[in-house]
Amino acid sequence: MSSEVLTTAATGMPDLEAALRGLASAPTLLVASDFDGALAEFTTDPSDSGPAPGAMTALRALSRLPGTTVAIVSGRDVRTLGQLAGIRSTDRIALLGSHGAESSVSGVVNGSIDADQRTLLDELTTQVAELIQDHPGARLERKRAAVAVHTRGLPAGSAKAALEAADQLGQDQPQVRVMPGKSVVELSVSHADKGSALRALADVVGAAHTFYSGDDVTDEDAFEVLDPEGDVSVKVGSGTTAATHRVPDVTALVATLQRLLELRRDVVDEAAVRRP
Ligand SMILES: [Mg+2]
Repeated sequence: MSSEVLTTAATGMPDLEAALRGLASAPTLLVASDFDGALAEFTTDPSDSGPAPGAMTALRALSRLPGTTVAIVSGRDVRTLGQLAGIRSTDRIALLGSHGAESSVSGVVNGSIDADQRTLLDELTTQVAELIQDHPGARLERKRAAVAVHTRGLPAGSAKAALEAADQLGQDQPQVRVMPGKSVVELSVSHADKGSALRALADVVGAAHTFYSGDDVTDEDAFEVLDPEGDVSVKVGSGTTAATHRVPDVTALVATLQRLLELRRDVVDEAAVRRP
């Protein structure tokens, strides 16, 4: 891909190509991304989701380069995320699930919820089940530490009403964390967020620099923990963001990861040549 495509002058954001060049030579690098809406196109049925062409190939290749850790970070639970992303037993790709409450790498997060949180989650799930009765077409998803209301595919008015009702249900309960997304509101009993989990993973694997991309409100937690000088954060799509860069869509993000791979491979090859 040409550097022109990655130049984001029109958005008023700094040149992504230059940022990737800087990152490619970092001795230790964490490359992490949100899944849905970033590595995978949205589908009407969230269980039909799968990675966009080229996405996993680029991530797998990055994960095999020296000093490079790759992670996928999602609101989905680790098990579902692994299945949808098509993670193989030979892959060296870390998974952070349930918005950072769960990790496939030990020592990153404490994913358990206590008895009080369990009781709260059970009550919340009952309330959400009642709520969706009033909003035909809205779907309930049970998660390990949360319950979500999905409205993808619904007429705009019905979707808005269902999401507002779910949001209000969560706002009324101070122990519940409300996480709005695209056509989804998630009500969580966990205090985890993608930013804390990303930081913890970077510490555990010893990565001094991080690349992170995502499209959702919950990805802002991750963008905010990154250093705008030494890290690169990429918002996928429109909307206000704390990210340093932006790409228009999933296809452009895959191209960005392929470009990062290309640049980092060059750095690794050069280092190999210089080595006595
Ligand atoms: Mg997303």
